[in-house]
Amino acid sequence: MANPFINGSYAEFSQLDSMTIVDPSNGEEVDTVPASGAAEVDQAVRSAYDAFPAWRNIPAAKRGEILGKAAHAVMAATEELAPMLTAEQGKPLREARLEIRRFVHTLEHYVGLAKSIRGGYVPDLDVDTYGLIVRRPLGVIGAIVPWNFPTTLLGNKLGPALITGNVVVAKPADTTPLTTLRIAEIMHEAGLPAGVFNVVTGTGEGAGQALAEHPLVRKIAFTGSTPTGKKLMAIASNDLKRTTLELGGSDPMIVCDDANLDKAASAASVGRFFNAGQACLAIKRVFVFESVADEFIEKLAVKVKKLRVGPGTAEGVMLGPLHSPRQRDLLEEQVQSAVDSGAEVLHGAKRPEGNGISKRGNFYEPTLLVEPSHDSRVATEEVFGPALPVWRVGNMEEALQLANGTEFGLGSSIWTADLNRASDAAEKIEAGYTWINSPQIVYDELPFGGWKQSGYGKEHGIEALDYYTETKSVVVKRAV
Ligand code: NAD
Repeated sequence: MANPFINGSYAEFSQLDSMTIVDPSNGEEVDTVPASGAAEVDQAVRSAYDAFPAWRNIPAAKRGEILGKAAHAVMAATEELAPMLTAEQGKPLREARLEIRRFVHTLEHYVGLAKSIRGGYVPDLDVDTYGLIVRRPLGVIGAIVPWNFPTTLLGNKLGPALITGNVVVAKPADTTPLTTLRIAEIMHEAGLPAGVFNVVTGTGEGAGQALAEHPLVRKIAFTGSTPTGKKLMAIASNDLKRTTLELGGSDPMIVCDDANLDKAASAASVGRFFNAGQACLAIKRVFVFESVADEFIEKLAVKVKKLRVGPGTAEGVMLGPLHSPRQRDLLEEQVQSAVDSGAEVLHGAKRPEGNGISKRGNFYEPTLLVEPSHDSRVATEEVFGPALPVWRVGNMEEALQLANGTEFGLGSSIWTADLNRASDAAEKIEAGYTWINSPQIVYDELPFGGWKQSGYGKEHGIEALDYYTETKSVVVKRAV
């Protein structure tokens, strides 16, 4: 059994029920973890709370040095961590390695910002009076993370929280706690003081909710679905906890008649099918101008048909299993809704046949759908799996109206050779991130966060530091 990591060591909770972690590619048990409840969460929160004063008082540059060493140790353990991530999450080993690297790079980004945490000075507020704007950490951060990118999404919270002097209790998803637990141990062994970063295991309603409700937790940093985000916002309102909510998305991609169709098709294929389509930020709806639609769809179909499906550990696999039977069932219902509404299926829309992998794992073929109705579920809901719907549009106005026609506002992309047209569309598209002629890559340097029901608050960029600190205004009279 893998136990919660609290105050610098694994805590034994043998009296608790255990939860089984399953390999999505074959249904076999990988490990078990205890289903922590309020008492265990309390132990973790108190250990973080006790560690806070000492961690906060370490000079920022020194905190950066400690965090940098811890990040380096995680990088050095990539070949141990990546197979662990593949086993619990399902993604191809190549993507698991990329995810560990991404986690490290994000921490390094914040190490680089250690000396940029600063406030302000306002002279001459009054006679012999000046003002200081002081920026201080919040305290215990409750970081609640989903299963699709367990490590990347942890790094997005851990980096800004720790560099600004906060302490963290993380609650990974019920089904993907193993890599996170081992990362906490590695970071501690590399010099992160006990209690600064703790990990509790358990369900959302159990450990997750107990963490969100704990009175010593000052901020909930959450990534997950929009319904859970709304619940957490309500819980946070009880004692006015700070929140950052990174929620669902249904990113539109607009392909104009003057776009580079090869590059756009390539970006659509990677952007939709990476991580078996289980990404918040993924191209989930394509709107292509009528005059180039057939050519674009043909290029895209060639790419989709080449995506090899199989277990994440197999050589050359590009599409692993879906994370759980539940995810596959939901995807099947959404695709069926598209087919029933009249969509043409250019590829997939079924489980792979022939090699028997579907009997043991949650596999699904990469699916390309053309012209489902605009009220089918692939148009109105978030599709969290390898299915991409494409619609033909007459012009930019129609594309923008459809693109903006959902409750979501996370990412978006526009493909055109005309930068005037692109920048005008980028102004009008309702999303926290817009890529122009670029694959949807998230950069540590730029703030990331959703509009509308895709969330609230920012991660990445120097802006993330603001979400992990409070300002205090200090007025000083020079003459006593
Ligand atoms: P989820 O909301 O079901 O679970 C996310 C986390 O919240 C898990 O750790 C879960 O245990 C916990 N949780 C669930 N109920 C809780 C409760 N009542 N109280 C406290 N914690 C609770 O989401 P999911 O299905 O695991 O993840 C997929 C969703 O995450 C998708 O909607 C996806 O778009 C979104 N997502 C968003 C981003 C982003 O940055 N915007 C990134 C990745 C995923």
